[in-house]
Amino acid sequence: MRTPAYAAPSADEPLAPFTVERREPRAHEVLIDILYCGVCHSDIHQVRDEWGGSIFPMVPGHEIVGRVSRAGEGATKFAVGDLVGVGCFVDSCRNCEPCRAGEEQYCREGMTGTYNSRERGSGEPTYGGYSTRIVVDENYVVRIPDGIAPERAAPLLCAGITTYSPLRHFGVKAGDEVAVVGLGGLGHMAVKLARAMGARVTVLSTSESKRQDAMALGATGFLSTRERSMFREHAGTFDFIIDTVSAQHDYNAYLNLLRIDGTMVLLGIPDPTPLSAFPLVSGRRRLAGSMIGGIRETQEMLDFCAEHGVAADVEMIDIADINTAYERMLKGDVRYRFVIDTASLADA
Ligand code: NAP
Ligand code: ZN
Ligand code: ZN
Repeated sequence: MRTPAYAAPSADEPLAPFTVERREPRAHEVLIDILYCGVCHSDIHQVRDEWGGSIFPMVPGHEIVGRVSRAGEGATKFAVGDLVGVGCFVDSCRNCEPCRAGEEQYCREGMTGTYNSRERGSGEPTYGGYSTRIVVDENYVVRIPDGIAPERAAPLLCAGITTYSPLRHFGVKAGDEVAVVGLGGLGHMAVKLARAMGARVTVLSTSESKRQDAMALGATGFLSTRERSMFREHAGTFDFIIDTVSAQHDYNAYLNLLRIDGTMVLLGIPDPTPLSAFPLVSGRRRLAGSMIGGIRETQEMLDFCAEHGVAADVEMIDIADINTAYERMLKGDVRYRFVIDTASLADA
């Protein structure tokens, strides 16, 4: 099936119209007509080959919401018409310890990314959600619960699960003091989710202009990281820090904001930054990382969001606006997730 898409031809060219070939769904696969696709900062990192090994042409997009339009004869989980989501991966080995534990994102053989990856077996490149349809194994598809607007659900498939998973894993609970560093796509979801779990949330941001928004999103405090005195005044105050910053910054300064035994978890993936032992050693603090979440946990997160009335704050764009959207994200100018209306691809 010839499918309209947008692709990056190389690391230094803008995205442009492209066509991908989607196959008929096999036995356990579903064909999804894509309605919306969120724009993640990881799309920019990969389009610009900042992590190395990018595959071009690249059709990005891993915050996909759409409707099942055809199901393979062996598919039992979804029916035609179901509203479903696809996140950052579409396959994994299904046999290793992490896969069996439902943490497919940590598959020993490597998860198969929704884009910029190669299909298991065939080795064909995978193409993501900046397109009008996609074919995915039903075991890697989740259900969008009733009550969340589909365009506001799309960013939950990456930004939502990436922030939900470490909050749960590290046991953030009511009354905890949580800091969220960087108020972008991931950051605004971290604020909403930590708040819904009962934590007190402080936003640490380079953008003073986001102060009002932070409070409206549910934060109880806002600190400007451009004021260096802040790092001294608030030393030792947080139980948990979620760092979503996409550009290089000094982790050591933020670690000092943790209480004794506090944990800072890195979600952003910028270029390497030097780390000093002192801020860790001097407070028995922990620095951790976390990558998205498994399929089961993604469904749990979606159900949690439906129950707590949590969804992303989105700015809808047409596909033709994608290169401008990237430029705005690089300036921290997104409130708080761009979402592509794929209807704009039909005639792109
Ligand atoms: P985003 O929407 O662009 O938000 C990033 C935010 O970081 C900006 O809004 C800005 O917030 C802050 N920031 C940007 N440049 C900065 C700088 N030079 N110094 C300090 N702060 C800066 O990006 P996103 O989609 O949330 O993604 C954030 C990062 O997470 C990216 O590196 C992405 O690749 C990564 N990511 C990781 C996973 C995972 O599984 N671990 C999943 C998805 C994304 P303020 O204006 O508030 O300062
Ligand atoms: Zn992402
Ligand atoms: Zn595996």
